[in-house]
Amino acid sequence: MIIQDIIDTRREELGIHQSAFVKTADLRFSDGVRHLCEENSCGQYGRTWACPPGVGTLEECKQQLLSYKNLFVFTTMHPLEDSFDVEGMAAGKEQHCEVRPQVVRLFREQYENILVLSAGGCQLCPSCTYPDAPCRFPEKLIPSLSSYGIEVNRLAAKAGINYINGANTVTYFTCILY
Ligand code: SF4
Repeated sequence: MIIQDIIDTRREELGIHQSAFVKTADLRFSDGVRHLCEENSCGQYGRTWACPPGVGTLEECKQQLLSYKNLFVFTTMHPLEDSFDVEGMAAGKEQHCEVRPQVVRLFREQYENILVLSAGGCQLCPSCTYPDAPCRFPEKLIPSLSSYGIEVNRLAAKAGINYINGANTVTYFTCILY
């Protein structure tokens, strides 16, 4: 069964809200997104190998990304009590992180070489080795979408899926390149 059919069959069971397949050649990269990383509103800049500057230059990220032909993007959507519901946002991200490995596994079963990008930051280790020693788990490392210069709102428009899903919800994105 091809990956599109597998995803279609298992979408609900996996907890995917929306998804699409896109050609990486159709992606647009943005310096601006990397500049937003430097402003560090998420607090992850310079903290791990998954975010700038540890992830590499934008050009290096772009070349790596373009070495894959296809991109699968999926979202999970989570209700919030209101737009200040930080705990709800964190719980939503946790749920997204539970869905993600199941989807990634489906791709790993079909493709030897994939790259996974997702919502920012790496929390795999209690204390990251960055910048003093190499990443402990490079095979598990999931760089942030923005560190690769991807404007998620434009990607969502290209993919025909929602960037936001209405008031009092939060939406998280993962991309799998293959
Ligand atoms: S896997 Fe560990 S060492 Fe590697 S980036 Fe994440 S926290 Fe750092």
